[in-house]
Amino acid sequence: MSKVAIYPGSFDPITNGHIDLIERGLKIFDEITVAIAINPIKSGLFSFEERIELIRGSLDNHPRVKIDHFSGLLVDYVRTQKTNIVLRGLRAITDFDYEFQLAMMNRRLAPEIETVFLMTGLKWVFLSSSILKEAARLGGAIEGLVPEIVCRRLKEKYGLL
Ligand code: ADP
Repeated sequence: MSKVAIYPGSFDPITNGHIDLIERGLKIFDEITVAIAINPIKSGLFSFEERIELIRGSLDNHPRVKIDHFSGLLVDYVRTQKTNIVLRGLRAITDFDYEFQLAMMNRRLAPEIETVFLMTGLKWVFLSSSILKEAARLGGAIEGLVPEIVCRRLKEKYGLL
């Protein structure tokens, strides 16, 4: 039976840190579903259709990576999938507290679901979508932190192209 992991997040937009994590995950799991969490209150910079397009463009239609979206509780979504594994990434220590709380709450809500953490590559330890957007908005050089397609779309969004 193939092992599938659900990798949930905002991905607003996808960065090289997310991609690094997906590539590590693919060494362990047969398939990864990148699941975009739709938050009706927080709209984000990119629409969820744009986020999907950027993820697809960045991963070059990788045959073992699926893209999906969900709203509501993560555990409810995972229960509709053929797996009980959630993949999350850890960067610097600051992630730990939040990720720990989230994993513990999810375990309480759904004891059959396991959260697996992978550590990011050193190059991406301080990379988050929010810090990236801040740098891009102010005209900072973001090349090398995101795939080419994301870099272009960020600059377009902020009127820098
Ligand atoms: P969220 O809004 O849930 O934090 P993100 O899209 O920012 O969603 O992140 C999704 C997951 O990817 C989280 O587990 C986060 O820790 C992880 N992640 C984000 N950036 C990186 C990175 N640079 N390296 C490794 N993991 C990362």
